[in-house]
Amino acid sequence: MVGNETHEGHQRHSTDEFPRTPRATGHVAYFSWFSSLSCVSWMLLSASLASAQVPSPETFFGFPMGADTELASWPRIREYFEQVARLSDRVELVDAGPTTDGNRLIAAIVSAPENIARLEAIRAANARLADPRTLGEDDAKSIAAAHKVVLAIGASIHASEIGATQAANELLYTLATTDDPVLLASLRDVVLILLPSLNPDGHVLVVDWYTRHKGTPFEGSPMPWLYHKYVGHDINRDAFMMNMNENRSIAHFFYEQWHPQVFLTMHQMGTRGPRFFVPPNYDPIDPNYDPLIWRTAGFLGHAMALRLEQDGRSGVVQSAMYDYYWPGYEDSAPLGHNTVCLLTEVASARVASPITVSPAELQGGSRGLPEYRAQINFPNPWPGGLWRLRDVVDYDLSAAYGLLTSVARYRAEIVENFYTMGRRAVERGRTGGPFAFLIPPAQHDPHAAGRLEALLLDGSVELHRASQPFTADGHTYPSGTDVVLMAQPFARYAKTLLERLDYPVRRAAPGAPAERPYDVAGWTLPYQMGVEVVTVQKPFDVDALAPLEKATIVPAQITGPSRPTHYVVDARGNGGSIAINRLLAANARPAFTRDGHVVVPFSKTSAEAVARIASELGLGVTAARGRMPDGTVPIRRARVGLYKPWVENIDEGWTRWLLEQYEFPFKNVSDADVRGGELRAQFDVIILPDAPPERLLSGHPPGVVPEQYTGGLGEEGVTSLRQFVETGGTLVALDSAGALVANILDLPVRDVAQAAGPTEFFCPGSIVGLELDPSNPLAFGMPARTAAFFSYSAAYELSPALPTPEGHGGPAQQATIEIVGRYPARDVLMSGWLEGERVIAGRGAVLTARAGLGRAVLIGFRAQHRGQSHATFRLLFNAIHTSAR
Ligand SMILES: [Zn+2]
Repeated sequence: MVGNETHEGHQRHSTDEFPRTPRATGHVAYFSWFSSLSCVSWMLLSASLASAQVPSPETFFGFPMGADTELASWPRIREYFEQVARLSDRVELVDAGPTTDGNRLIAAIVSAPENIARLEAIRAANARLADPRTLGEDDAKSIAAAHKVVLAIGASIHASEIGATQAANELLYTLATTDDPVLLASLRDVVLILLPSLNPDGHVLVVDWYTRHKGTPFEGSPMPWLYHKYVGHDINRDAFMMNMNENRSIAHFFYEQWHPQVFLTMHQMGTRGPRFFVPPNYDPIDPNYDPLIWRTAGFLGHAMALRLEQDGRSGVVQSAMYDYYWPGYEDSAPLGHNTVCLLTEVASARVASPITVSPAELQGGSRGLPEYRAQINFPNPWPGGLWRLRDVVDYDLSAAYGLLTSVARYRAEIVENFYTMGRRAVERGRTGGPFAFLIPPAQHDPHAAGRLEALLLDGSVELHRASQPFTADGHTYPSGTDVVLMAQPFARYAKTLLERLDYPVRRAAPGAPAERPYDVAGWTLPYQMGVEVVTVQKPFDVDALAPLEKATIVPAQITGPSRPTHYVVDARGNGGSIAINRLLAANARPAFTRDGHVVVPFSKTSAEAVARIASELGLGVTAARGRMPDGTVPIRRARVGLYKPWVENIDEGWTRWLLEQYEFPFKNVSDADVRGGELRAQFDVIILPDAPPERLLSGHPPGVVPEQYTGGLGEEGVTSLRQFVETGGTLVALDSAGALVANILDLPVRDVAQAAGPTEFFCPGSIVGLELDPSNPLAFGMPARTAAFFSYSAAYELSPALPTPEGHGGPAQQATIEIVGRYPARDVLMSGWLEGERVIAGRGAVLTARAGLGRAVLIGFRAQHRGQSHATFRLLFNAIHTSAR
């Protein structure tokens, strides 16, 4: 998790249903490029020829894994895995599903030949163990007695953390060819699923960049773009939301097919601290999960540490740095599926180039390791010196062997515990609150509700739909209400996603500053997504429940006369923006009414478009005769520019992804484009993603990356953006980019959240209330009260120190600031952790500032945070809808 070590942090949905990822083709299916020989005949062939023919990675790739400046590329790794699978009776290769950019996730299933020959039976038995409702304890025990433990190892989801992907080739080779009796015994007890990369798209990008600059002054330099088409580092923050193919693929592969009992993800960290991290992790934990999870992770972590120590690898730390609170990591979402998840982090080289770390450079300073010296969780500090990719590979391999052998030794316990955790999850759901979560059919944003149900189903959470009204906790719910019963094996996963969170704040001592969470403190999806979800705390009866197989939007009706003059579309929520974009695409001439509905004059094309909007987006349409409503404002197709800096920007990636999903045409805008001026001739609206102003202005300094990627907006860019606004453009700033825009336009606003010290105000990623002015077009289609995701974000006050806008000089002379949204006056926090509420209470969260002929829109938080905060997407969308005049 290198990017976060310092704690700094295409597919399109059809709208009537939320298709789940195409299934991985299953373990019996070979890739189409495989030999046409059947799996069975290959096994017969290879059983006698066995390992002698399996080429070593060095033979195959032409260099040993981890050799200085050498990297195995993704196509070659895939070929190597295919070849080993063809030649070894211990290996079968399976397809684990698509990536974003058209690659495939692959997994080698490695085990003793007799297990490989009956993988389907093992998988079926494993699936039975995963669901205790259909398996009694005695039967579970007898299955467990002979069952194989399923261990998954996934490499390098953060593609620049490249060592594990290289090590995977060597691990595969060793396991396919070894005569070592301990490893052979382990393979008899373990089915290992080895995913050589959890982010092949990113691996391609990283290897390409590194190889291109090898031997130049920019060898090992940072890429000026993300190591994934959209989300870079956040590909490991998407595991429950599954906005990206990779995360949906892995979810189906794990939760539907393989149910691994143990899952290790291998990462890399910074260069100046410990060499290796193994579990146990640091606090806090999410208390939803069965304690057997943490106990098992602890002893397996110690087993890995022991093996590393035996192999002479110093600098291994435990119980430090990485907490296990956020459920969106690839290695934490499975916790609620009763999979013991393990994380390792190894110190990085400069991609594949060696580095030297002097003893004086070594430092602690992280949670659990305040100083770099021997302590109980770090008994053997690494002394410093040369550190190369081969070290990364060696440490990863030691950990993998330590894990494999200990998982094999504790096979029966791990398998039994897996069953026990599922059984206890079901029991907790039957005996204690909450008993269920309910999703009523009438939702403000049917599109967001559909997305919430789709991600629960993708996470193998069972949903049911009530076909009759029922009563729970004293309230009556209508037919069509969807029910998440807690008496199901993966109930704890559903619970952590749906419940309100109260972050367990930690301090080293009373009165000491609070420790920052590794990621965020709150994610409650019903709040973030603006979906009404009801928690049922008491036992209740509901008949007539049918399993829900697919999340769909209930079609809405078109009411009114059959030969109308115009239609009024109830363009609520994010589906409302898709509706507007489709009406624009159909040249149906949509316009906003004063209260945020959308009217379109009748025509053949508008009739067709509104019919689809009603049926696919679940938005009601009224056909009307007579005069169009007064005071409508035409919505025109906006020319959208999304600024994309050369300092990789995840927020830009998420915004780009979001605009595609919601059918907004747009163009990326580079520093050179902005500096070139004439922006107004090209764009109606320009979006600045979240980034600190100094980074937006300066970009990479010279010498860090090739010259064409250095520098930022600069003074020319600032002037150009100011002119853009003054000549009628809309400049949208997300979160910390607002400070730049306030500065550019000399706006009389002050960010009181930034101005406050950390002891005065602290909110490291939580959900807060947001009160909107429903008459402001920026809030059209939104409820008057909703939720925003606040992570070190902004809260504005109109600066009393500055003259009133009318009397102010410069561009702000004409500035009229409108506060579109505020944080509530009290009870600001909805879920997570916030200290110093009074600092932001009642302050501006979203504002518009007129300047010249145009305006700035400052959204003080990330309205599109990780593609999760559906409740506030519409603010960004409305800024676009209202920008073309
Ligand atoms: Zn990482």
